[in-house]
Amino acid sequence: MSLVSMRQVLDEAAKGGYGVGAFNVNNMEQIQSIMEAARETKSPVIVQASRGARAYSQDRFLYHLMLAATEIYPEIPTVLHLDHGNSVETCKSAIDMGFTSVMMDGSLMPDGKTPSSFEYNVDATRRVVEMAHEKGITVEGEIGCLGGIEDGHGAGLDGLAHLTDPDQAVEFVEKTGLDALAIAIGTSHGAYKFTSKPTGATLKMDVLIKIHQRLPNVHLVMHGSSSVPNDLQDIINQYGGKLKPTWGVPVEEIQLGIRNGVRKINVDTDNRLAITGAIRKVFAEKPEEFDPRSYMKPAREAMKKVVALRMTQFGQAGHAGDYAPISLAEMAKHYAAQPVLV
Ligand SMILES: [Zn+2]
Repeated sequence: MSLVSMRQVLDEAAKGGYGVGAFNVNNMEQIQSIMEAARETKSPVIVQASRGARAYSQDRFLYHLMLAATEIYPEIPTVLHLDHGNSVETCKSAIDMGFTSVMMDGSLMPDGKTPSSFEYNVDATRRVVEMAHEKGITVEGEIGCLGGIEDGHGAGLDGLAHLTDPDQAVEFVEKTGLDALAIAIGTSHGAYKFTSKPTGATLKMDVLIKIHQRLPNVHLVMHGSSSVPNDLQDIINQYGGKLKPTWGVPVEEIQLGIRNGVRKINVDTDNRLAITGAIRKVFAEKPEEFDPRSYMKPAREAMKKVVALRMTQFGQAGHAGDYAPISLAEMAKHYAAQPVLV
């Protein structure tokens, strides 16, 4: 079994009316957590690495860990996706390494901070689409800007500063021919998404629904979509952590998104919280321990639990065996026959 096309996984999710979590990884334990959760819940899965993750891990390590995942979990359709590629060159390096999907985030300039022009975004995304589709690789683009900064990426703005304009989204999809569209609806990267439980004024599900009505066949992507539940925050604070009160995106809002075209949901913070809480607990309760396995194992288990829960909530659970993977060469033929798939 090899890594599969994200386009196929999202097309199947659209047919089945469910969403697929895209979970960020930096190391072996996180990959194992996700794959175990996928096996337990029989879920197709998207594993994603940001530029920060590629630098931290030396990405060849991550890539080979993912190949190991396909050998150990052959029944799970598994995508390896580049999260927030900042330039055509970054996307090319991921494609050359063997990623089966890339995000070209042309909503920001290559510095990953400065909001770009629409024309720049169309041009950069279109170039990545041409390069990627030739090899059967999927492309996600972004229109509008997410809030916050994560791994040095982001304009550091409020999540409401650059919401996606539905008309511009239509033009963007038509001009780029991408496979999946990340939209800005008020969410932010990182743990501090909202200062109180989000309302219709801060989390703009109405914008998402408008975009879906205009682009009913386009796979929408929700970024910054950790739910940041209280129980995960509490474990950290109970064992010496100092998280400030914060709110994420409620699961029921994500489920509303899934009923309105959302097929990929990015989750990172919840897993980071689960890992850190589990490690803090061991450190507090068993200060005599010094074998890293004594805290990495509970950390892995805690992340697995969160991922399995999200897989069930997003609806991808039970769908791993629904379809046979299409090879990337076959995907390339589909793209060649129909360059713009929307
Ligand atoms: Zn993101």
